[in-house]
Order: sequence, then C-alpha cells, then structure tokens
Amino acid sequence: MLTGLNIEGRIVYPTDSDWDAAHQAFSTLVDQRPDAMVFPADEADVVTIVNYAREHGVRIAPQATAHNAGPLGELDDTIVVQTSEMTDVSIDPAAHRVRVGSGIKWEKVAPQLSDHGLAGLHGSSPDVGIAGYSLGGGMGWLARKYGLQTNSVTAIELVTADGQVRRVTAENEPDLFWALRGGGGNFGIVTAIEFAVYPVEELYAGALFFPAERAAEMFHTWRELLPTFPEELMTWASILHFPPLPEVPEPFRGASYAIVMGAYLGEEREGRELLQRLRELRPEIDTFAMVPPIELGELAMDPPDPLPFISGHELVGELPAELIDEFLEIVGPESGSGTTVTMFQLRHLGGALARKSPGAGARATLPGEVSLFTLGVAPDEETVQTVRARIDRLVAAAEPHRAGKYPNFVEEPADASDFFDAETWQRLCEVKELYDPQDLFKGNHHVPPAAEEAIAA
Ligand SMILES: Cc1cc2nc3c(=O)[nH]c(=O)nc-3n(C[C@H](O)[C@H](O)[C@H](O)COP(=O)(O)OP(=O)(O)OC[C@H]3O[C@@H](n4cnc5c(N)ncnc54)[C@H](O)[C@@H]3O)c2cc1C
Repeated sequence: MLTGLNIEGRIVYPTDSDWDAAHQAFSTLVDQRPDAMVFPADEADVVTIVNYAREHGVRIAPQATAHNAGPLGELDDTIVVQTSEMTDVSIDPAAHRVRVGSGIKWEKVAPQLSDHGLAGLHGSSPDVGIAGYSLGGGMGWLARKYGLQTNSVTAIELVTADGQVRRVTAENEPDLFWALRGGGGNFGIVTAIEFAVYPVEELYAGALFFPAERAAEMFHTWRELLPTFPEELMTWASILHFPPLPEVPEPFRGASYAIVMGAYLGEEREGRELLQRLRELRPEIDTFAMVPPIELGELAMDPPDPLPFISGHELVGELPAELIDEFLEIVGPESGSGTTVTMFQLRHLGGALARKSPGAGARATLPGEVSLFTLGVAPDEETVQTVRARIDRLVAAAEPHRAGKYPNFVEEPADASDFFDAETWQRLCEVKELYDPQDLFKGNHHVPPAAEEAIAA
C-alpha cells in the first residue's frame, strides 16, 4: 500500500475491483503486475508521486496508454504511473505547433490537425499514445519526408527524480532534451509535449489489394521499385489475414491479401505514375485517391482494441530478392502457415529517416532499407507456441541482413544498448546518471545510470 500518498487522481491496487481495467495492456498477453497503478490528475499530482516514490524506495514506470508494456517485464517494488488522464490539446495552426498532455492518443489530435490542413507525424494506429511514440522515435506515413516524430518535438515538460518540474528544450537543457528524444521514459514522468506539424491539405493515399496467392509478384515488383521512389512517397508491403469477425466488412472478412499501402505528398498524376508498375499487376481492389490527412489513421487497418498478440521485428539493411523468397517460404501462400502470422509487413525506410538532422535527439535516424514488423494473434497457449515459432523464423531470416532494431517495435524485454551505437548509449547513460542516479525511473527499454552500466560491463 502506498500509505500516505495523497493525490487528486486515482490509485488502483491488485485487490481493487477496477484492477482488471486499470492494468490492462494493449497486448492482452501482457499481465503487468506493479504494486499499484497510479493515475495522476495533473502536474501537481506527478510531483507528489515522484517525491513519495523517491522517499519510499519505490520505482516508477511511466506510461501513457500501455501500448508498449511488454518490455517492462518484472515490476516488483514498482508503481506504474499512467498519465492517461492528462489529455489537454492546444493547436496553433498558424505556427504549425501543437502542445498536448502526455496521456493523449493521436486519434484526439490528428482529426483536428486535418481540419486545419495540417498533419502530424503519427504512425499506423491513431490509438497509440503520443508520449511513448514520440519518446521512442515515431515512424509513420510521412517519415521518409519529415523523419521521426521525436525530431519534430520542440519542448518536453516533465518531473525529474528530484521532484522538479522542468520545461526542457534545445536551449535550456540540451543534454536532457537530446536524451528524452529516443531514450524514452527513463528520465522522468513527462507531463506535456510540444511538437511541429506540417502543412498537408491533401495527399494521394490508399492501398492496392492482391489475392494472397499473388504475394510473390507483388513483393518482388515493390522491391524493384523502392530505389525509384522519392522521399515524398512512403509505401508498406504486407500480407494481412483479416479475422472472420462480423465487424470486418466484406470482402475482407476472413480473407487474406497481399497489400501495398502508400501515401504520397503530391498530386494524383505523379502518384499514379510512381505506382504504375504495381497497378499493371492488376490489383483486385485499388483504394488510392486524393484524401485529407485524417484518412492516414485508417490506412493501415490496425486493430483498435487490445488483443492477444506476439510480434517480431528487425531493421533490414538491404532487401535482396532472395530475402523476399525466404520470407514468403515462411508466410507466403504456399508456406503452410495458414493464418498463423496475422500480419507480415515491410516498411520502406531511407529518405529523411537516414539523415541526421541538426539538433536531432538520441534516436536521430533509423538505419536500413526496410523495417520488418510482424505479428500473430495468439488467443491460447498452444497458438502462442505456433505463432512464436513462425515469427522467430521470420526474424532469423532477416538477422543476417540486420541494420539495427527500432525500440518502439520491440515488444518484449530487451537489452536497450542494442538499439544505439556505443557513443549514443554511453551519452544516454551519462545523462541518466546526471538526472536519475538512483534509477528511480524504469522506461520500457531501460537506460541505466552510467555508474551502474560501468559495473555491469
Ligand atoms: C497497434 C500499434 C500500432 C503501432 N504503429 C506504430 C507506427 O506506425 N510507428 C511507430 O513508430 N510505432 C508504432 N507503434 C509502436 C508505438 O510507437 C509504441 O508502442 C509506443 O511505445 C507507444 O507509446 P504509448 O505511449 O502509447 O505506450 P506506453 O506503453 O504507455 O508507453 C511506452 C513507453 O513510453 C514511455 N512513456 C509513455 N508515457 C510516458 C510519460 N508520461 N512519461 C515518461 N515516459 C513515458 C515509457 O518509457 C513507456 O514505457 C505501434 C504500436 C501499436 C500497438
């Protein structure tokens, strides 16, 4: 019990009747078991919680929506502080700037931006929290043109281990500002984030759906086209098995497709030309059209509700044709995998994702030609084993071509030093030592203080 912790917000213990809802993660296979779930109402609550935890030897795992709770692992003597009730939004359309409370999801912001002819750098699912997405990197539809969301962040407000409220920018606390943008929730509880957004009235976006049996033709053609695509065009090639659920519309319900989805910051005529070779393959369904940016939230058709899933990921340096063949041997129509792997997806990288912009944070770039992300829905123990085995095979096939790993796509406990080069990792640990020497904060991917890291090494 957190005896003596008095806040405006809520504290929920494992014995409370609302525990199930309070500790729910997006992957229902993840059973996060902290001492308590704490939901601050405001910044003053956050200060009280941080001071209490520091004085009582309790660790804090900061969280916004629990979309990436899997990597946290054991949470003994730890409280999860979820800022999901801090959801203010203010948009300055003329300045192309947004300020949000750290508990808000993209779905509350992207539609308003779209109405102003603006787009933020959100990812595939509008259900994801802006905080974790931005602090870990944030790779979405406009990333080849504008880079990672974290490098469009202009200010972060947080409460650090000493209980201080800080407004952190490139000018006033450059090291902490750098570390937060990629180093995640290891430096304090973030209460608000400010970031730049971009003028986008309309863009040419949609998806080409091929019967899954034609995956090889589609993936190989897509691969050949990648070097010809400008930064204004982002494409993702996937195999997707739609569940046979009533809420999934026909003709998708229970069907399997190979799909190229894309978003092009430009005119329809140019967009059509860029995709011409894929269209010549005669997709069964073609949804490309000029649309406002709000449509980007629905493009990937991500599941909106929590579900039991296992995922795998690699950043792939170069994508040779043989690797496509290997992938399809594991998940293609003749692989015998059936619907075990619900989604297999390759996202095109490069462009601004490969360039370190001036003033970038710890997560400055994403290396590689494509990012592999794959997941399987696994409702019971037997399925967990089958799905895990297939996903492990996909990751193993990609490993020899590995360019790195992107922490936001890693959903299990991992060694965070693997996500950074040695120099960046060292600096992250030094900033951690400076602001949180007692290691009060446990981000999803843990950055230890430099002194602790030196002992471990
Ligand atoms: C359906 C789905 C689609 C996705 N699509 C994309 C995509 O297209 N592109 C992409 O880049 N990623 C994507 N992701 C990954 C996503 O970016 C990560 O899961 C991200 O960590 C989610 O952030 P969150 O705040 O919602 O999650 P949380 O689990 O709440 O937070 C994750 C971590 O962020 C930090 N954090 C969160 N809130 C705070 C806070 N208030 N203070 C300090 N630290 C905090 C902590 O380290 C925390 O452990 C997707 C995930 C899902 C489930």
